[in-house]
Amino acid sequence: MKTVALHMIRKFHLEFFQKHLPDDLAIYFHELEDWNMPRFEEAIAHLVREGYRTASPRAFAAGGRGKRLFISFDDNYQSWHRALPVLERHGVTCTFYVNSGVFRDMASPSAIHDYRDRIAYRGSDRTLSRAELREISAAGHTIGCHTHTHPMLSRLDRRHWDAEILHSKTYLEGLIGKQVRDFSFPYGMRRHFSPALRDYCEAVGFKTIASGISGLQHAPSRDPLSLHRTEWKLALPLEENLAHMRIHAPFYGNMMGRSVIGSGQWLAVPMVW
Ligand SMILES: [Zn+2]
Repeated sequence: MKTVALHMIRKFHLEFFQKHLPDDLAIYFHELEDWNMPRFEEAIAHLVREGYRTASPRAFAAGGRGKRLFISFDDNYQSWHRALPVLERHGVTCTFYVNSGVFRDMASPSAIHDYRDRIAYRGSDRTLSRAELREISAAGHTIGCHTHTHPMLSRLDRRHWDAEILHSKTYLEGLIGKQVRDFSFPYGMRRHFSPALRDYCEAVGFKTIASGISGLQHAPSRDPLSLHRTEWKLALPLEENLAHMRIHAPFYGNMMGRSVIGSGQWLAVPMVW
């Protein structure tokens, strides 16, 4: 009975608490395999047709006029390199938050195997080579840091932060010959991060920190470093994803204590940063 009631409240909320699509839209993806590449292109083409123009993380966080779109990717997938012609076709630039310890021409098969377990990836995509990452950077896209090996940072002892975060940043900078100033933390939800980690990231030189908490597109951040991203789920139809971007989730989150999109996403500390 309780489950049915929750389901009805969620359904009601998804249908009646829809706002317009926000002018500032921050979406993110993971792998782009053969089955979902056409859906990715459909999504990008739609948003460009709607008048959105892509922005880098720092430009997006700084604010601005018009319809602005922040497109990003997390983890480390070779398919990002295969997507370069699609991105060029639609005139969009993206941000790739990379795990720096798993390039396929550098990491051992067992390290890559363990990594795929950590990110719960069961598909056929490989990880990037370092040359492919350099080509993505040279094509005008932003390279950000997503830690070295994708640990759950909230469970990591502080003495390992340098190895996972600062070392990853420095390593990527050496690889692409540019500064890396943008960070997204593994697992994306607020409970996997902390104010102490946020201050550490700022101290080592990151200018933006991206989360992956659904339903906050209508909730401006109180922290100038913070970027609220909503995952665009390529397994779902375009219209359903657009509904996720329009939702006024803070209302639902404050009422129910969880995100309206996906029951696992907990908003235990709403809108702190
Ligand atoms: Zn990740």
